[in-house]
Amino acid sequence: MSVEPLPVRFGGGRYLERPQAPLFTLHPEHLQSPLASIATVGTATARRLAGLGITTVGDLLEHYPRRYDDYSQRSCLAELRLGQEATVRVIVERVDLVPTRRRGLQVVRATVRDGSGILEALWFNQGYLAKVLEPGMAVSLRGALRSRGGRPALLVKSHELLGVGEDALHTEGVVPVYPASVEISARLLRTLVHRLLPLARCMPDPLPAPVRLTAHLPTRCDALIALHAPRSLADGGTARDRFIFEELYLLQVGLLLHKAAEARRAKATVLAGPPRLSRRFLERLPFSLTPHQREAVAEIDADLGHDVPMRRLLQGDVGSGKTVVALYALLRSVEHGRQGALMAPTETLAAQHLATVRDLVGDLARCDILSAGLPAARRRQTLAGLADGTLQLVVGTHALLSEGATFKELGVVVVDEQHRFGVVQRDELARRAAHAGVTPHLLYMTATPIPRTLALTLYGDLDVTVIAGSPAGRMPVRTRVVSDKARDKAYAFTRRQLDAGRQAYVVCPTIEESESLSAAAAVAEAERLRSTEFGGYRLAVLHGQMRPAERLKVMAAFKAGLIKVLVATSVIEVGIDVPNATVMIIEGAERFGLAQLHQLRGRVGRGPAKSYCLLFSQAQTPQAKARLRAIVQTNDGFELADRDLEIRGEGQLFGARQSGLPDLKLARLLRDREALKLARAAAQRTLQSDPTLARPESAPLLDAVRATFGDELAWLLRA
Ligand code: ADP
Ligand code: MG
Repeated sequence: MSVEPLPVRFGGGRYLERPQAPLFTLHPEHLQSPLASIATVGTATARRLAGLGITTVGDLLEHYPRRYDDYSQRSCLAELRLGQEATVRVIVERVDLVPTRRRGLQVVRATVRDGSGILEALWFNQGYLAKVLEPGMAVSLRGALRSRGGRPALLVKSHELLGVGEDALHTEGVVPVYPASVEISARLLRTLVHRLLPLARCMPDPLPAPVRLTAHLPTRCDALIALHAPRSLADGGTARDRFIFEELYLLQVGLLLHKAAEARRAKATVLAGPPRLSRRFLERLPFSLTPHQREAVAEIDADLGHDVPMRRLLQGDVGSGKTVVALYALLRSVEHGRQGALMAPTETLAAQHLATVRDLVGDLARCDILSAGLPAARRRQTLAGLADGTLQLVVGTHALLSEGATFKELGVVVVDEQHRFGVVQRDELARRAAHAGVTPHLLYMTATPIPRTLALTLYGDLDVTVIAGSPAGRMPVRTRVVSDKARDKAYAFTRRQLDAGRQAYVVCPTIEESESLSAAAAVAEAERLRSTEFGGYRLAVLHGQMRPAERLKVMAAFKAGLIKVLVATSVIEVGIDVPNATVMIIEGAERFGLAQLHQLRGRVGRGPAKSYCLLFSQAQTPQAKARLRAIVQTNDGFELADRDLEIRGEGQLFGARQSGLPDLKLARLLRDREALKLARAAAQRTLQSDPTLARPESAPLLDAVRATFGDELAWLLRA
């Protein structure tokens, strides 16, 4: 960045309440300076800004407006209509503090005039204005004309003093409204941004000029100025589009860099031999594969037959039968004398997978688990087995990524619920296991329903397989909303299911992100149910605060049918597979998101018997009601995803969080999917001409990608 001085003088207090603000000269290096070091920003203000995550001038300029108020129509006094809000420019003639009978109420009254007429303007509870406003001052007023005691008066919403030949900032034109806080008003933010906006000129532009020109986008500087000080609403919109594109472009450049780094890695072993174990596995299954599963298996076979490492995302709703497909891939590795690893985000899920492997794979492969909760001796044993190859399959958590975990020769890695791991972390196991020029094949699984086209763009570095629907013979879960009045009936119904030999879940809502409070609530609810509704039934509690070993014990007992009712926090959201469980009771259902409700419901309906999901709720808000209606009406995760989008108006369900991607400020993955496509194509072109962003002109882009992905991508950019 060129560092030429940029003398911009402020003063005269044109937008300030205090007319004598100190003169201050801005320099480009102020962009990175802490705000407190800028003379026009006080330390108290700087501290409050820090509360919004704004610490440097650059941060402030990237604090984007939430929306705009369009005050661009200016009126003269004679044009004002009762009840209508308007902006006028007037001269103050006289000012009084009006005595009122109500204690504590202050009213300032000013007589104001313009070329068209004369009027009274009123301010409430801003008594200090009686000292600020003086006859002869030019002010801009935004307010509504009301009738006060039979006479019209302008009730002022906001005002500002006008200097000679200057524009108003808060009352005229298109006024940006910033995400504010109790501590710091949108007005103060506007003032500060406006004062520091000239520095936009010095902000580096990460978009390479060819990309910007092809996409018909303004420069970053122009866009920043238009965003914060638009001449029209359209102007602000164009600027916004540019920043949305920029975010998506940086995301895609990061993902493609990642993909390229993966491709530069060692080759994979070709696993093309005859399917012995894997065929036996399929033959031994108590069911035959659905067409979708067969297709997935065929795609995986084709991938494994190449020396390019497989990188495939297996997407399918909860219960669609992904695990069987994953096990097939792992056994392909075993039958070639290689090992297979299945990594899951939680201990619960890992334990569940182990049970499934034991059940379905049986003696076809030697398998064990590696998780943090393992006793030291067993852990050592597992590690030894992985190192010398006696263990052919392993399921585990992040523990698989720990230092001591080495494999003899890992052929296939499966990562379940891949979005719970970061972009880089999800590949970590394969990267570490690469040795002697050979790298494992990778299969990711996710139950987050993302429209296929979006997934292709979003998980730009992966191939995608979708398993739609669920295995034949599985019935949709019947879902009902249960009001307070109907609770007794619902419990009675559940007892009848239990008496018929079935099992039930009761899920308690998570309390404000506090694990221990949530756990306590679940424990209390278990106590209550034990002594009331479900007295006489074996009941246990499961929550995140329990020791892993204890948790596994409870789950095993539930799976074995020794426990009839499992009271849990949302830890059971993923992984538990107990086909005999047919009732899912969700307490405070209105407090769960749609995706989460759907996941929870997926815990039942896994066997041949009809299953039920009972949503206990006193939903009040229209949004909560709409969510519950949606979940009652459909069992299809993809459709729910669309409904969720409608209800929330934004693609939170596919937000960056759920996809394991960096946070996005303005862009929404679903809403902006067209821009996402363009951004991806642009990113591809950029990396074609400068694959490692090594050229000097790519420096701003490289910096921005680094800032976007944080430390995660550090290894990659070094590579
Ligand atoms: P996912 O991992 O996609 O949530 P699972 O693989 O756990 O789903 O499958 C859910 C249940 O359906 C399991 O009990 C599994 O054994 C069973 N299942 C899988 N494939 C089939 C099939 N083709 N026919 C019948 N049942 C199946
Ligand atoms: Mg699963």
